[in-house]
Amino acid sequence: MRARVAAISGSSRGIGRAIALELAREGYQVVINYHKSKAGAEEVLEQIEAEGGTGIIVGADVSSSAGAQHFIETAVNSFGKIEVLVNNAGVNKDQLMLKISDEEWRQIIDSNLGSAFYCSRWALKNMLRRRYGRIINISSVVGLGGNAGQAHYAAAKSGLMGLTCSIAKEYGRRGVTANLVAPGYIQTDMTAALNDSQKSRIAEGIALGRLGTPADVAGVVAFLASPRADYINGTVIRVDGGLSSI
Ligand code: NAP
Repeated sequence: MRARVAAISGSSRGIGRAIALELAREGYQVVINYHKSKAGAEEVLEQIEAEGGTGIIVGADVSSSAGAQHFIETAVNSFGKIEVLVNNAGVNKDQLMLKISDEEWRQIIDSNLGSAFYCSRWALKNMLRRRYGRIINISSVVGLGGNAGQAHYAAAKSGLMGLTCSIAKEYGRRGVTANLVAPGYIQTDMTAALNDSQKSRIAEGIALGRLGTPADVAGVVAFLASPRADYINGTVIRVDGGLSSI
């Protein structure tokens, strides 16, 4: 049997990178996607190949329908199918609600929520034909409870919940499941701006006493993609170390 195919949006760095590496180790042929970090994507593929895995790289801005179409169609044209889609691409730009410009609002909504809608819509065409698919959306605990300074980001991440549950209900009977992973504070470029004292203060509010790693999230995604999670559909798994509040 040919290896399964997994496409991960925004896998040139951070959590997406860890997910691509983890799924490749699980035997998937992976489709790595970057927008700006081409060198990062190439490094991810090099590491995958060094470990005996296979994959391809697709440069595409998945916040647009055309970019998402290019990403998914290249995956399907290269491997003939797509079984797992991880909608991981996202950006954040902290700003007080009253200072968020219309342009910033659209950028954050399109990058975090639009991208998942577009990629899922294109991938579903192939998944439904084959009556099998696993869609895993990367949200955030901020999408579950909101956060000061992140109204646009929180709204987008919250929207992923509605999108995920709708896909789960619309396509469950046709072999496609959709689930949400909501990370807490994970050490990546996205949280790199936090200084040491901010990190220690955050860690104090986490039951495990530490920030998470990209690998902490990747393991959960690999589980949701696996047959062990076949009966999990339309739900959210928090990966936040027991974060009490944000
Ligand atoms: P990161 O280190 O900043 O990496 C973001 C990734 O998304 C990069 O690979 C970037 O690609 C890609 N990306 C952004 N916009 C894109 C676009 N329009 N098209 C294609 N790729 C795009 O962030 P991260 O911490 O790994 O976050 C990954 C996901 O987890 C995001 O959805 C984020 O919201 C979520 N999350 C993160 C945390 C955290 O604490 N880090 C917590 C909760 C949720 P390029 O560099 O190539 O442009």
